[in-house]
Amino acid sequence: MSTSALIQLTKVQKIFLTEDMETHALSDIDFHVDRGEFVSITGPSGCGKSTLMSILGTLDTATSGRYVLNGKEVGALDERERARVRSEQIGFVFQAFNLIGDLSIAENIEVPLTYRADVDKNERRKMAMEALDRVGMTHRAKHYPAQLSGGQQQRVAVARALVGRPSILLADEPTGNLDSKNGESVMQLLKELHLAGSTLCMVTHDPRYTEWADRQVFMFDGRIVSGSVDASTPLDSPAMVASDPA
Ligand code: ADP
Ligand code: MG
Repeated sequence: MSTSALIQLTKVQKIFLTEDMETHALSDIDFHVDRGEFVSITGPSGCGKSTLMSILGTLDTATSGRYVLNGKEVGALDERERARVRSEQIGFVFQAFNLIGDLSIAENIEVPLTYRADVDKNERRKMAMEALDRVGMTHRAKHYPAQLSGGQQQRVAVARALVGRPSILLADEPTGNLDSKNGESVMQLLKELHLAGSTLCMVTHDPRYTEWADRQVFMFDGRIVSGSVDASTPLDSPAMVASDPA
């Protein structure tokens, strides 16, 4: 195990059971993210990327295997304890911005802090404005989501992810709903946050953006097929070619 690992998954497996089917969404996943690292995860649709992100974000639990976050085993925690870990340590950015339409931008950013017993109302407002400042959106604090472009909404979603000062930002296809100009601008923002010290794990299927990360991880059919590709390795290198497990 890497001593600087913020996140360490060992032999993680995730099986979804539905009425007539057993889906092995994740098989034998060994994965780590070091403090301060920017890791990208790429792979075809259905290969398990979002499932992996849900487990990393404690929204879901593995069927088997071990998950250590910040030195603490979180795989075995109950729902309530996981919710606490989530609100204190995880910041999420999704493809759909998921802002609440009848809350102002500032209020949207305060939402994750309302789950925090250690943050009072004044502190919430102050932290929200700081987070807005970090994404360059303070001038929109009193606006509503519908008044903003997609790119601006995603910047606000990034501020909401940051506001609780999480240990890690998890971004699942953060540019998936954006045109290339807005996508590039959101990526620029994520890169700036990383350079300022944030730990970042991002799923993308956009080959333009995988190489913005320090390290690229490739998934195929629920498995990590290559996990130590340096950012300078071109995407069409042999590392990208998965062997068919069938
Ligand atoms: P990706 O994000 O790489 O497109 P997902 O992690 O969403 O892939 O899905 C991986 C596999 O797990 C797919 O076969 C998908 O249908 C299945 N899956 C994901 N979530 C569920 C669920 N809640 N119930 C049943 N099957 C699921
Ligand atoms: Mg997905």
